[in-house]
Amino acid sequence: MPDKRDYYEVLGIDKNASKEEIKTAYRTLAKKFHPDLNKDNPKLAEEKFKEMSEAYEVLIDDNKRSRYDQYGHAGVASDFGKEGFTWQDFSHVSDLEDIFGHNIFSDFFGRGSVFSDFFGRRRWGFFEQPEEQIKRALVEITLEQAYRGVSAEVAIPRIDICESCGGNGAKSGTSPDVCSHCKGKGEVKQEQLQGFGRIIKIGACPVCKGRGKVIEHPCPTCHGNGQVQRFDKITVKIPPGVDNGTTLRISADKDDSKLKEDVYVTVSVQSHSVFQRKGSDIYLEKTIALTGAALGTKAEVPTLDGNAVMKIPPGTQTDTLFRLRGSGMPRLKGHGHGDQYVRVIVRTPKNLTKRQRVLLEEFEAIEKEK
Ligand SMILES: [Zn+2]
Ligand SMILES: [Zn+2]
Repeated sequence: MPDKRDYYEVLGIDKNASKEEIKTAYRTLAKKFHPDLNKDNPKLAEEKFKEMSEAYEVLIDDNKRSRYDQYGHAGVASDFGKEGFTWQDFSHVSDLEDIFGHNIFSDFFGRGSVFSDFFGRRRWGFFEQPEEQIKRALVEITLEQAYRGVSAEVAIPRIDICESCGGNGAKSGTSPDVCSHCKGKGEVKQEQLQGFGRIIKIGACPVCKGRGKVIEHPCPTCHGNGQVQRFDKITVKIPPGVDNGTTLRISADKDDSKLKEDVYVTVSVQSHSVFQRKGSDIYLEKTIALTGAALGTKAEVPTLDGNAVMKIPPGTQTDTLFRLRGSGMPRLKGHGHGDQYVRVIVRTPKNLTKRQRVLLEEFEAIEKEK
């Protein structure tokens, strides 16, 4: 792996940056490296965009951030796949929507440019439609909702003719004019130098961009596009066990469907403050007292299905991994649930009283005798 840059450096913030500062930094950079603004070097923009999104994914999450602060990149490596961070690991797509508006769908996902490894065609070979005609939407849910399944409202983007101008793009009371540069044809002859000679090419008119018409007073509603984006709200049943990046095909031909065409809804599952998910398994850390670890005890641990009591046998070492069988996520394909793994951290007592100190010294003396 090439040298990875420090996440703080990537976002240009210092180590004590607040969440607000992290968001602002990401927002500023994301706007700068928007692929539409970097047409001269889309590859670099895409790389930068991915790099900053990985940094954001880690630093905006308290759990991941503290592991990164302690252990560097190694501390978060297990959150991503073998090949490192991919868009599938990005759980903050809704923040991108906040930055770019809902157009993010058409800007990124529709064309499958920046998010090609996330939303691209190659992840599902069954699409028979051309990529740009496929309707996509996104929904963000919590881990608890992913555990139980949920009926979620999803906004499906739709392009509609602008009602204010009837689709011609001109402000009411005005109308588009015939382009004087191309005389309405939309194309012009262009002379180009090639080697030592000149060639004549026919290309789109630069003044009207091939439309043959110019709009002097654009419609304020659609800014001259003649089209507006609207959203249809539909309710999507999300089955228990969905993972971050799971795509559901919502069929248009169901009786109760308001849809005119199929929609692919991708689920983004938020990262959780307590539980970490890997596939259908859940990981959790539990701190127990030194005495409990030595003498054995019972510890209450949260699971996605309420609290469970876990037996800690005498002589438990720190970092021991216990398994709560069947307490993980439901398996989307297949039966039953994954497991929950609890890593036990033994807490060394601090601020001892006199009596505790005496007892521990006595304990130490006996240990030495042994
Ligand atoms: Zn309009
Ligand atoms: Zn023209």
